[in-house]
Amino acid sequence: MVEKHKRKSAERGRTGVYIGLGSNLGDRETTIRAALHDLERHGDIRVIRCSTLLETDPVGGPPGQPRYLNAVAELDTELSPRELLARMHEIERRHGRKRGVANGPRTLDLDLLLYHERVIDERDLTVPHPRMWERPFVMQPLEEICDARLLAEHRKMPHTEPVCPRPG
Ligand code: ADP
Ligand code: MG
Repeated sequence: MVEKHKRKSAERGRTGVYIGLGSNLGDRETTIRAALHDLERHGDIRVIRCSTLLETDPVGGPPGQPRYLNAVAELDTELSPRELLARMHEIERRHGRKRGVANGPRTLDLDLLLYHERVIDERDLTVPHPRMWERPFVMQPLEEICDARLLAEHRKMPHTEPVCPRPG
């Protein structure tokens, strides 16, 4: 399941669906691998490729929290962004995710980064993920599996800039 291929931009003529995975509590690698497996268990999501795992320092949140393992995966799914987010939350819960302090330690964090060219700006769902561009722990694994030119084009679009800074 874990592959390291550069994506060909002409592959499907669409940006693709990309999610970020992060963990800094428990057996981080096992959790991330289990989450990738969980995504596929209903048969309506396929993990096309996944970046290598990257170990990173925590950004924000309470001081002294453990280091993260991060990865980015490309998915193939007909689920809507909202259905996909609901599934991601369900998987976070299954792995013991508890929501407490903003940017606090977590067994599993799944973020929806890109959903083809869709732009969503709602209270509980913003796509492209508004903080992804300045987060090396997202961009480094994303650039590993997503065409750089395609990403640059996405980034240039005015709507991808965060309207106002949000915590997290
Ligand atoms: P963070 O990932 O920013 O550290 P959380 O995982 O606790 O924080 O998510 C907080 C909220 O962010 C979630 O309840 C979710 O509804 C909302 N959210 C908005 N846009 C997205 C997105 N693109 N991906 C994931 N969650 C999002
Ligand atoms: Mg999250």
